[in-house]
Amino acid sequence: MTEQSAPGEPSAGATSPTLAPMSALAPTTLVAAVRPAIDPRPGMSGLPEGVLESWLPSNGQPAYRAKQIRDAIWRQHVASPEELRSLPSALRESLGQAFRIDTIVADEVTVADGGLTEKTLHRLSDGALIESVLMHYPARGFRASGRPEHRERHTLCISSQAGCAVGCPFCATGELGFGRDLETAEILDQVRHAVRRMAPDQRHLTNVVFMGMGEPLLNLDRVLEAVARLADARRLGLGARHVVVSTSGVVPGIRRLTQLGPQFTLAISLHAARDALRDVLVPLNRRWPVAEVVAAARDHARVTGRRVSYEYVMISGVNDTDIDADALSHLLRGDLAHVNLIPMNPVAHTPWQASSPERIAEFAARVRHYGVGVTIRANRGQDAGAACGQLAADRAGEPPAATVARRRESIVRQSEAALRGERNHDAVSSSLEAVVAPHTEPR
Ligand code: SAH
Ligand code: SF4
Repeated sequence: MTEQSAPGEPSAGATSPTLAPMSALAPTTLVAAVRPAIDPRPGMSGLPEGVLESWLPSNGQPAYRAKQIRDAIWRQHVASPEELRSLPSALRESLGQAFRIDTIVADEVTVADGGLTEKTLHRLSDGALIESVLMHYPARGFRASGRPEHRERHTLCISSQAGCAVGCPFCATGELGFGRDLETAEILDQVRHAVRRMAPDQRHLTNVVFMGMGEPLLNLDRVLEAVARLADARRLGLGARHVVVSTSGVVPGIRRLTQLGPQFTLAISLHAARDALRDVLVPLNRRWPVAEVVAAARDHARVTGRRVSYEYVMISGVNDTDIDADALSHLLRGDLAHVNLIPMNPVAHTPWQASSPERIAEFAARVRHYGVGVTIRANRGQDAGAACGQLAADRAGEPPAATVARRRESIVRQSEAALRGERNHDAVSSSLEAVVAPHTEPR
């Protein structure tokens, strides 16, 4: 989980209780021995438009109750039928039988960065574990008038799937493998839980990013439904500009988003500009290689007029050399694009380390030199295990040492082979210099 640097001293991780009744379970009970089936009752927050309006009259209730119920879900953030206090008890009961008021069964909240980061492990009705991370950014840069240059922000990073099939070797979610797609309500209830937790402090959610567990573009229908609900003024009313969807490069999904028009900010997890290395770092690259992903992202920027973000996790000695910086500059120069460099969060089972701050600064300077916009991001919540999927991976238990050793060995072998094939520094640099004059304006 990453965001721009923000003030605040990191502190040792501390666990805080969340609101009853969402926090009842002790950590060890979060892992279900035999996984129950998903609760078949639809989740209230994800109901398609009109469902409640037709359910109410067919259950002998006036249609105006729909607004009351919607407000209870989105303004009072109710988690159980008992909390629907403005409704007659018979209606509360029948609603509870037909729908799930909350699709999240239990939360476990871990606080880090001196209270600025809150990581939540959510348990779903079938025992699946997913994560969200709430990051607080206090106002800063106060002017003489007393108004801040940068207003206070509260960003929530949410999951779109339980686990992930893509299997990036630096990612704890990739290590877990694919569980299942989340329902629309399961996506939205992560947001409702965060909003509910912030309410007593008069804090309001300002941004939502799909950078938690899972590949959002492989669960795109539900992600789009969730974004539409978030934007709806009768619900959260979060402007599309305050939503970021990150993808490892599902080209048909990117193209579909382009057809739909500007909905939110698109982020591409690139991590390598050359196919041989990206094949290892983001295995989906074997299906949709770098050129196809960037072409789709470029079209998206052109058609929607919205700048595309490229995420680039910095891994020491793997994708952080001058050749990588040059290849990246070559690839993106002149595009309506911005690169975010993210130091790799340490993840169990990965043999790699984050690049040093000095290397990241040099890499950024080299990319900037060719006119490509670049920001260095600070990792949030490392002491809370805030790399994507890390808490759930920890809960899944430690695999046998031999399995871990085999996995590390295979990652090293594959990446070394990729690097051998691609490490012809002179060829890359000279081809770049031939087409790129430093300090020229973007095309
Ligand atoms: N699957 C989507 C969205 C979820 S991952 C995607 O890959 O874009 C969100 C971001 O977290 C991605 O950019 C991913 O590369 C990054 N990430 C995963 N593991 C990380 C780690 N160990 N350190 C830093 N960033 C990581
Ligand atoms: Fe999946 Fe994204 Fe993790 Fe890769 S980085 S395994 S795509 S969640």
